[in-house]
Amino acid sequence: EAKAAGKDRVAVFQAFMRSRLVEKMRLINCFPESMRRGEFFLEYQPQVALASGQLEGFEALVRWRHPTLGLIGPDRFIPLAEETRLIVPLGRWVLRTACFQAARWPAGDSQLSVSVNISGWQLQDEGFVDSVTEIIAASGLRPDRLVIEITESVLLTNPTLTATVLGELKALGIRVAIDDFGTGYSSLSQLRQLPVDVIKIDKSFIDPLVDPSSEGAAIVAMILRLGVDLKLATTAEGIEHQSQWDVLVGLGCSTAQGYLISVPLGAAATERFIAARLRVRPELAAGVRAGR
Ligand code: C2E
Ligand code: MG
Ligand code: MG
Ligand code: MG
Repeated sequence: EAKAAGKDRVAVFQAFMRSRLVEKMRLINCFPESMRRGEFFLEYQPQVALASGQLEGFEALVRWRHPTLGLIGPDRFIPLAEETRLIVPLGRWVLRTACFQAARWPAGDSQLSVSVNISGWQLQDEGFVDSVTEIIAASGLRPDRLVIEITESVLLTNPTLTATVLGELKALGIRVAIDDFGTGYSSLSQLRQLPVDVIKIDKSFIDPLVDPSSEGAAIVAMILRLGVDLKLATTAEGIEHQSQWDVLVGLGCSTAQGYLISVPLGAAATERFIAARLRVRPELAAGVRAGR
């Protein structure tokens, strides 16, 4: 009987793997057509200064609205896009769209930043820096408003090439953030050598801060001290509770992002969010008027 149950489990597992594979093939097959049909779109999640609550910018996050499968999140299709290298054209579309939309935001000539996730395959693509240069010029976005997010794991797989490309971006005036920081194993010396401006502390380190007495706070404190020592800005990802915000303010983290502030917003809602903030905070609007 135990043997039969074991066989059942194997059969269930095989069926599961088959259905995963079928889904994967289905998504991969309709990818290029979906790009042409314009099924991808961006949402923007606000990032605010922890000390003052002032709006600093947004992270652009890609979504796929499939005609029959419905809304598909990036966790389901970005890994496939990377496997098939379709991430290169898709990522270029994301960067172009984010830069053009950000250039048109109500506080368009203020200092609001737009952060764009860039895959390792894009960094390795020969035409990457040229296409960034072209997109910046065509969109009219001030280069220092663009932040490129690279995951910590990418830094580790190809440190030499990454350092070169990041240096070229830096020369264009673009800022660089390390995404999901703490989940990889980059060394201090690597971090010091790379032209990086921002550390984004992964949500998994922010979650335990709900309980301020937890040991998790010690790890975050250490990462934040590292940020201070290396003169980097620090962003906490995935803040959902006020208690987490309170701990992070106390620890000197510079920027907050998470559902507590806002979920990612569509393009129109993003513009409304900015406009509302400008009304609440006239000093931001004054900066816009002064052309700062
Ligand atoms: P990420 O860059 O670390 O982005 C943060 C993710 O956390 C987003 O998920 C965001 O919606 C989610 N999030 C933010 N605040 C909270 C919170 O308070 N609670 C919870 N539970 N989640 C929160 P999303 O949009 O599903 O994106 C997942 C990942 O997909 C991103 O992680 C990023 O690595 C990747 N991704 C998204 N857009 C792009 C893109 O255009 N290009 C590339 N290469 N990767 C992308
Ligand atoms: Mg990111
Ligand atoms: Mg992240
Ligand atoms: Mg993360």
